[in-house]
Amino acid sequence: MEREVRRVRQAFLSSRSRPLRFRLQQLEALRRMVQEREKDILAAIAADLCKSEFNVYSQEVITVLGEIDFMLENLPEWVTAKPVKKNVLTMLDEAYIQPQPLGVVLIIGAWNYPFVLTIQPLIGAIAAGNAVIIKPSELSENTAKILAKLLPQYLDQDLYIVINGGVEETTELLKQRFDHIFYTGNTAVGKIVMEAAAKHLTPVTLELGGKSPCYIDKDSDLDIVCRRITWGKYMNCGQTCIAPDYILCEASLQNQIVWKIKETVKEFYGENIKESPDYERIINLRHFKRILSLLEGQKIAFGGETDEATRYIAPTVLTDVDPKTKVMQEEIFGPILPIVPVKNVDEAINFINEREKPLALYVFSHNHKVPVGWELITENIVLILFLISVPVY
Ligand code: NAD
Repeated sequence: MEREVRRVRQAFLSSRSRPLRFRLQQLEALRRMVQEREKDILAAIAADLCKSEFNVYSQEVITVLGEIDFMLENLPEWVTAKPVKKNVLTMLDEAYIQPQPLGVVLIIGAWNYPFVLTIQPLIGAIAAGNAVIIKPSELSENTAKILAKLLPQYLDQDLYIVINGGVEETTELLKQRFDHIFYTGNTAVGKIVMEAAAKHLTPVTLELGGKSPCYIDKDSDLDIVCRRITWGKYMNCGQTCIAPDYILCEASLQNQIVWKIKETVKEFYGENIKESPDYERIINLRHFKRILSLLEGQKIAFGGETDEATRYIAPTVLTDVDPKTKVMQEEIFGPILPIVPVKNVDEAINFINEREKPLALYVFSHNHKVPVGWELITENIVLILFLISVPVY
């Protein structure tokens, strides 16, 4: 590892990653890779998550291509030095802000969207003139292999390298000094990454998870609400960082919500969900068993069917969930949707404020006064969506 990191640092110190022209060329080469090798990339991700090629394209490839185009369009302006107002300390100087690359960046990817979660930070790092070591998730092994094969065919082979491996290799990598670490994954490993980075005072970006709540107000269009929640929750078999984790609503709404989600699931995935090309599988047996254990002692309103051999878990809704049970203690990251009844919006706000900050929050209401209270809990939340019911599908 030490040798590899030294090699990449040497390449960075050659300064060839800095000129705007070079960065644009590398980004164009990356776009060419995605376009020319689309079939290989789609097949690898599809194999990792049992995902249809259409879903891979729409959930991962489009985002990557869009990000590259966005960078190509804006980078020339972003790299330009910006003059700043002088003050008493700088009155005799030329004063401007010139963005500079940080140096060698380590990107540690996660498996749930294994291509976009690794390539998107790579695009940013190349655009900023850095050298990069990419460590894809070992759990999405087909994508990890295709990245290691394709990236050196299109990008500078000394500035941008892929190192594949699991915990042992990542632990070894983290002992090295980097100038920035970009980690996507669970909170427990996030702490390990931050601790390792602190030894070298390396700045980090941590893209972590959390339990993202949905509050459904009684003054909302339940048809639209349930349609949106069904889409967000069961996409990628619930393995999405900002998937709705649980629902808070008045007890009287529960039955209607269950019925409408059940109908929407049927519409989206058909009568035989197992055969649907649009419904994915759990990434591995460890996660499959972890998710199953969350069902223990719960009231299953619908779903609950599983098949260990194919790691299939049906879209499932739980009702009257006790907040003290296991399913409410950790991020679910699977196709299980608990409904926790609350008396009113104030109780829902308190419920969320008493817990760790979520990654996203979804509030469904026609009443424009309802979202006001949510300001209390929005600080530091990565994404807040006020999905006030509008008849758009
Ligand atoms: P994972 O198991 O692939 O782990 C992520 C990375 O950490 C991998 O590259 C892995 O090799 C490395 N790793 C694992 N254990 C390690 C250890 N002990 N020491 C050092 N490195 C180690 O992915 P995961 O953690 O299961 O990913 C799912 C989590 O990621 C969920 O919590 C999800 O919400 C979160 N996530 C967040 C975002 C976001 O943008 N905020 C996006 C996707 C996923």
